[in-house]
Amino acid sequence: MFKLTFLGTSAGMPTKYRNVTSLAVQPGLSRDWWMVDCGEATQHRLQHVPLTVHELAGICITHVHGDHTYGLPGLLASAAMGARKRPLVLIAPRAVRLWLDATFEHTALALPFPLVHVEVDGGQQSYEEAGLSITWHRLSHRVPSVGFRFAAEKSRWKLDTEALRARGVTPGPGWGELQAGRNVQLDDGTLLLASQFRKAQVERAAIVVGGDNDAPQLLADACKGAQLLVHEGTYTEAISQKVGPGPTHSSVQQVAQFAAQAGVPNLILTHFSPRYDSADGMKELEAEARQSYAGQLFLARDLASYELHTDGLVHKLEAAR
Ligand SMILES: [Zn+2]
Repeated sequence: MFKLTFLGTSAGMPTKYRNVTSLAVQPGLSRDWWMVDCGEATQHRLQHVPLTVHELAGICITHVHGDHTYGLPGLLASAAMGARKRPLVLIAPRAVRLWLDATFEHTALALPFPLVHVEVDGGQQSYEEAGLSITWHRLSHRVPSVGFRFAAEKSRWKLDTEALRARGVTPGPGWGELQAGRNVQLDDGTLLLASQFRKAQVERAAIVVGGDNDAPQLLADACKGAQLLVHEGTYTEAISQKVGPGPTHSSVQQVAQFAAQAGVPNLILTHFSPRYDSADGMKELEAEARQSYAGQLFLARDLASYELHTDGLVHKLEAAR
């Protein structure tokens, strides 16, 4: 129901193995995708995955900090060079739009497509389109920050195979015809109506992607009914205590405890401090999360993809590179 590809998973600055924050979200596993945050050089990361700027439906920005936004002008300039015409939705703080407009003006960039700005700090609380609802939820950070909840809905036709078998119709081409909505005539002349043997089934799933935040519990409402939480886990609890409350980030322990309490079955941690940029560093973070959280846990890696299936579980895919 959702495919996620991490384009950058580092906090503050890039490392040799991790770029600054950005995440691609494909609701309903569609070709169209959404981006959450756009750190510097995010468009370079796109060269390594099967996602194109043409199929980018919109960009959600959690907050104004550069490690989440500095990739925007370059990405938009490339979309302009690619002669994009399709409107691009930008769900972001007002300041991001003002900054982009100034950049466009001072660098003589005219976008050949509409940039449809939805302010997260205006009155609007959601963005809706066919099969997708995006809502935003206020978090706690040094600057105003939000988390995004993506709720997707997909309907498909399901064949009543039990009823077909009861009528003596075994699996075969007839099943495909009925599934496609076409009536089928049996050898004995009986006409099977597609409308009697297929039912519309609506599948729903929701994920929550946090921005920078030192109070994961602020996402309690957003996480209700969600199958997956993606949240920053910048430090271990010990380092978080050592650096003090200034940076307003979450420790892995805080997020793991919240996810357990909220009953979210899948948790992906991201936005790691560069100090953990080693296998041992990752192990340390994972061990801390495991102490509090018994669900499916992943520590995001750049260019890795994860799929949330209709069974409610997240499956990790191989990196595209
Ligand atoms: Zn920040």
